[in-house]
Amino acid sequence: MVKETSIEISGIGFSAGHFVSEGGKCERLHGHNYQVSVRISGEINSQGMVIDFRVIKEHLRLLCKEWDHRLLLPAYSSQIKISARGEKTEVKTPDREYSFPSKDVLILDVTETTAEELARILAQRLGEILKQNFPNVHQIGLSVAESITQRATVVIDL
Ligand SMILES: [Zn+2]
Repeated sequence: MVKETSIEISGIGFSAGHFVSEGGKCERLHGHNYQVSVRISGEINSQGMVIDFRVIKEHLRLLCKEWDHRLLLPAYSSQIKISARGEKTEVKTPDREYSFPSKDVLILDVTETTAEELARILAQRLGEILKQNFPNVHQIGLSVAESITQRATVVIDL
C-alpha cells in the first residue's frame, strides 16, 4: 500500500547578493546563482496527482522572482545593522559601511542570509500558499543550493 507520494521540482532559481556575519566578522559582499528544489508530499487526488507540477513551478518562480537580482539583507543579525532611509539603505558591519539603493535591497526576516534561512523562508511562503488550496499536501521539503557543492534543506509539515 502506498503511504505517501511526493513530487519533485528543480531547475528554478534566483541570482542574488549577500554576505553572512560569523563571530564578529563579515564575509565580503558576493553573490550566488541560487538553485531551488522542492519536494511536495501528500496523498494522490482524484486526478492521480499530489499536485500539478505546473502549479508548483509557477508559485516557486514567482517567489524566486521577488529575490532575483537583489541584495538580500538580514533583519535580525547581531552584526549587520540596517537603516532604511527612503531611497537609501545604509548597512553597517563591524568593519564596513555600505549604502545601497533601497529598490535593490530586500530585507528578510532572518538572522543571517544563510542558505538554511533562505530555504526556511521560501518553504514557509510556499506552505502558506499550498495550505489554503491543497489539503492533501502534508509536507514540503525545500532546498536552496549556493553552488553545486553546497545546499541547505528544510522540511516543514503543513
Ligand atoms: Zn554566500
